[in-house]
Amino acid sequence: MSPNSGTKFIFVTGGVVSSLGKGIASASIGVLLKARGLKVTMLKFDPYINVDPGTLSPYQHGEVFVTEDGAETDLDLGHYERFIDVNMSKRNNATTGQIYYTVITKERRGDYLGNTVQVIPHITDEIKSRILDAAHKNGDDYDVVITEVGGTVGDIESLPFLEAIRQFCLEAGWQNYVNVHLTLVPYIRASGELKTKPTQHSVMKLREIGIQPDILLCRAEGHLGKELREKIGLFCNVPPTSVIEAPDVETIYEIPLIFEEGGLGNLLVERLGLRNTSHPLSVAASQPADLDDWRNLVTRLKNPRHTVDIAICGKYVGLKDSYKSIVEAFVHAGVANNAKVRLHWVDSEDVEKNGIPDKLKQVHGLLVCPGFGSRGVEGKISAIQYAREHGLPFLGICLGLQCAVIEFARHVCKIPKANSTEFDEQTPDPVIDKMETQVNVQQMGGTMRLGGYKCQLKAGTYTHKAYGKETIVERHRHRWEVNNRYVAPLERNGLIISGHNPETGLVEIMELENHPWFVGVQFHPELKSRALRAHPLFREFVRAALNYSEVKH
Ligand code: GLN
Repeated sequence: MSPNSGTKFIFVTGGVVSSLGKGIASASIGVLLKARGLKVTMLKFDPYINVDPGTLSPYQHGEVFVTEDGAETDLDLGHYERFIDVNMSKRNNATTGQIYYTVITKERRGDYLGNTVQVIPHITDEIKSRILDAAHKNGDDYDVVITEVGGTVGDIESLPFLEAIRQFCLEAGWQNYVNVHLTLVPYIRASGELKTKPTQHSVMKLREIGIQPDILLCRAEGHLGKELREKIGLFCNVPPTSVIEAPDVETIYEIPLIFEEGGLGNLLVERLGLRNTSHPLSVAASQPADLDDWRNLVTRLKNPRHTVDIAICGKYVGLKDSYKSIVEAFVHAGVANNAKVRLHWVDSEDVEKNGIPDKLKQVHGLLVCPGFGSRGVEGKISAIQYAREHGLPFLGICLGLQCAVIEFARHVCKIPKANSTEFDEQTPDPVIDKMETQVNVQQMGGTMRLGGYKCQLKAGTYTHKAYGKETIVERHRHRWEVNNRYVAPLERNGLIISGHNPETGLVEIMELENHPWFVGVQFHPELKSRALRAHPLFREFVRAALNYSEVKH
């Protein structure tokens, strides 16, 4: 196995502590290379043993990001898509569990012909082949693959990945790879100093494994300054120009610009031998970076003309990472409307216990989150009733749509026991129900309706206007559906089915007559919102909220 001659490989590891923003740093590297005309893709290795992140609790691991091809992946893939605007797939994320699963399946099949199956070479070979695979996803050839390794250097779990990277670099040859290491340079208040020792130790650990980082990205509260960069460089065996500052910023979308100013883009081009060489990628890479769109984005983000308040009603409001893509989709939609969107979290269980909170009466829009299980559902239904009755712009996502249909059936169609069989198996009126294909599914993990499905829009509806086209593809992650038996009474009472799946006839989007903006979607629009391309539904929802705020005040 040898790495493809054209493709360049960048590896991003993290040291000292977790939560330094390795995903965003990796995605920002992608932006810098894309801005130089290179075709970039990304890969995330997760050292945990779960075979798919879909079964992890959002409390422990934040949102599950679903790709177009239906893989349930780590939320970092969301950052990748939002930053580099390239669809990820199941080949762009692998856990230790998946790697072992593949190797063990091969062993069971007899592929190893009785050989002893070991971490080196069998596990490391599988890891290396996934890095190569990412370079040629779906027949596309990428110029650069950026691989992020989850966790922190020194963890037992990430060792096989680092060993595989060490081997990979050796085989790829100088100028075909770069090792980037993200560390923390903490500020010690008592002595008033930034300390470089943790970075030195982290690099020492990495070198012990056989990886010499080429570039260090140093997170610090303040500026490192020339002296500290020289010191870090000396102890970590890199030139001081390869020590790049990663200061705290107001918005994550500023990071590519900060890295560019720090010289990271040019450094990568030099290190990969792409400056004025005969390498086929050289021409594109020696052009100046085109980051105008990003500069424009950051300027608009920092200087909004309007402000709008939106309530988000969900179950995991204590852990904002559970709704990461929704939060980011609002940032993009705000920029598209020259507005700052202020989010107000409403705990659905709280609404269930204490009724409509004052907060909801002061906002200009309500979003009801996706979710599983019956906890807090009645609170969501009450909040939706309030939005419907008060002309408050509403967007319901997945469970949010299902609750909107239940609410409408109960209070407008006068079907008082209307419910979802997810919450009441015995309900006489299952307006939301499991479809045949899901009824017998027992196993957890990968068994939902997952990934991109087509949706046909109805002419003249809000959603049709928002998208400006007839057919769309949006991503799903759910088991239950609107029960088509109830569509006729719902429609008779003013609910409009504005989108349906052309193959199965399943309801994808609903909206309401006689309401300024009330939309429920069975899919997850937040997963397709991009930094430079706000999602049409979020964009129009924020616009409706702005209109509402003007009428209200
Ligand atoms: N629990 C619902 C279902 O499985 C909704 C899922 C979701 O909101 N993602 O259909």
